[in-house]
Amino acid sequence: MTEIKLVFDEPVQRKKAPKHLADFSPEERRALAVENGLPAFRANQVATHYFTHLSNDPETWTDIPADMRSKVAEIFTPKLIELVTTRTTDNGMTRKDLWKLHDGVLVESVLMRYTDRVTVCISSQAGCGMNCPFCATGQAGLTRNLTAGEITEQIVAAARACVNGELPGGEARLSNIVFMGMGEPLANYNAVVRTLRNITAPNPDGLGISARSVTVSTVGLVNGIEKLMDEGINCTLAVSLHTPDDELRDSLVPINSRFKVREVLAAADAYEKKTGRRYSIEYALIRDINDQSWRADLLGRLLKSRNAHVNLIPLNPTPGSKWTASRREDEAEFVRILESYGVPVTVRDTRGREIDGACGQLAAAEKSK
Ligand code: SF4
Repeated sequence: MTEIKLVFDEPVQRKKAPKHLADFSPEERRALAVENGLPAFRANQVATHYFTHLSNDPETWTDIPADMRSKVAEIFTPKLIELVTTRTTDNGMTRKDLWKLHDGVLVESVLMRYTDRVTVCISSQAGCGMNCPFCATGQAGLTRNLTAGEITEQIVAAARACVNGELPGGEARLSNIVFMGMGEPLANYNAVVRTLRNITAPNPDGLGISARSVTVSTVGLVNGIEKLMDEGINCTLAVSLHTPDDELRDSLVPINSRFKVREVLAAADAYEKKTGRRYSIEYALIRDINDQSWRADLLGRLLKSRNAHVNLIPLNPTPGSKWTASRREDEAEFVRILESYGVPVTVRDTRGREIDGACGQLAAAEKSK
């Protein structure tokens, strides 16, 4: 009898994403131009078009000879991401884009306009290997790391949407970038650091956005935090703590079995000392799981002498999940207790709920169609 092989049982052999100018440092871009028979200064022109003018179509770059443009496109600007759907809410002020990558993998980014800023929340991995049980992305596991090009493209697309006046209120400037979409940024370290340099390098080498306006959110990969503080980038660090005690954190954030609360906070303190940047503690409030007064009390005691700010996030329940947001009164009590310790605390607004705003939910919905 012929054995029938189930194709979906095979490990997926993925073709590597094409290299893009955003995968390289400015020096590497120049070397790449020369390797391909182009003068080095063409790489600078390309970077100016991409990072300063947010253009990725060499056919429109009239300072590059017409017969050179297809070569330039091939080397520097292959198409990496394609828009699948856009969903908006909050009267169009929040917009979630679902992107398809070269191998069919789906990731998402969320663009949010506030009165004083425009923020994009981007994905650094397709899926996530950290397996937090309350998170849609974590449930699907890690598909693959994104390249610096694929991460940067989400940001440049957002910046372009702002400049083109695609959000209500007209033309705007992308001001803030948060690595809080799908994935654990520090588990894709090199691509994320390359992206951080693309964001913060002044024009034309990068987007020229201040590191103060960039937040990298981690579940607490201590080795990653320690490495990041030596990069000289000085972006803001956000640590997803979700509970102050190891006992619960071991199950809520499984990487806690490797890096305990005490070690994570020590790494965040060291980051703060080295960079001078106050860090934030992300805490998804989950009803009857981590929202008890005694946990607020323990968190207050842990943080009262640290330069940290707490962001409480009412959990956005994922379909079919037993986890849900805390009661209003429990949330208010949690805030009150933290404030009694002098810990600065905000309750994050839940933008994008109506459009499957929790990380990974739009990609999950698209896959199940
Ligand atoms: S909460 Fe963050 S780190 Fe945890 S599984 Fe989800 S995306 Fe990954």
